[in-house]
Amino acid sequence: MHPTLDLAAKTLEAHQRLNDLYGLQAIYGRADPMHELIGTILSHRTTHANEVTAYRTMRERFPTWEQVRDAPLSDLIDAIKTANYPEVKAPYIQNLLTHLIRETGSANIDFLRDLSTEEAMKWLTDLPGIGLKTATLLLLFNFQKPVLPVDTHVHRVTQRIGVIGPKVSAEKAHALLLSYLPHDAAVLFNFHKHFYWHGQRICTWYSPKCGECVLRDTCDYYQSGGTTTLSSTPKKKIPNKAS
Ligand code: SF4
Repeated sequence: MHPTLDLAAKTLEAHQRLNDLYGLQAIYGRADPMHELIGTILSHRTTHANEVTAYRTMRERFPTWEQVRDAPLSDLIDAIKTANYPEVKAPYIQNLLTHLIRETGSANIDFLRDLSTEEAMKWLTDLPGIGLKTATLLLLFNFQKPVLPVDTHVHRVTQRIGVIGPKVSAEKAHALLLSYLPHDAAVLFNFHKHFYWHGQRICTWYSPKCGECVLRDTCDYYQSGGTTTLSSTPKKKIPNKAS
């Protein structure tokens, strides 16, 4: 069999096993796409609870997006200080709002629904401070576009089981994994959610619970005893190596 077909089959097999484990989910996202967009920026390297507090405080102090854009930078940094790196995120948010309002006349991105996936992706990633992960999360969760967000958990688990190579970045994994999967938003949403949960609960960063893992028999990292060097994973030998 062609190696690419092998990897596609392995990806689909892992997807099916995690579907069975976690159950199929209907696509859901925040009701307001602007909340998703700004919330995703705030969420970078930040717990969910701290992201929620940062967003709520910002919106209480600056109820309109124009007020967020025009706020003194130090005040905005203070408002979002429960998010990590507020001094980086605040100017990102203001630059983004400045660009968005100048280009479209308002802080509203509902029009993305009517663009093709490619057009919407290009438009979003052309915005200052918006990368592939934020764009794919927004387009999949809020507009049901067939894209695949690859966050740190999806990256780590897919790399450990071996469907992406040991040096493949999260950015490159997006297109690679998408080439193995049906371009169907519901499938991609479940793939993202399930690999995300699996990375949080089982295939954790430092101490993966391989003994409890439904992917163990197909996992390259497990078979290597955790000795493979992966761009997504710190070097640490996993304890329950296959004999
Ligand atoms: S077997 Fe271990 S390393 Fe492999 S996916 Fe499962 S938890 Fe992760």
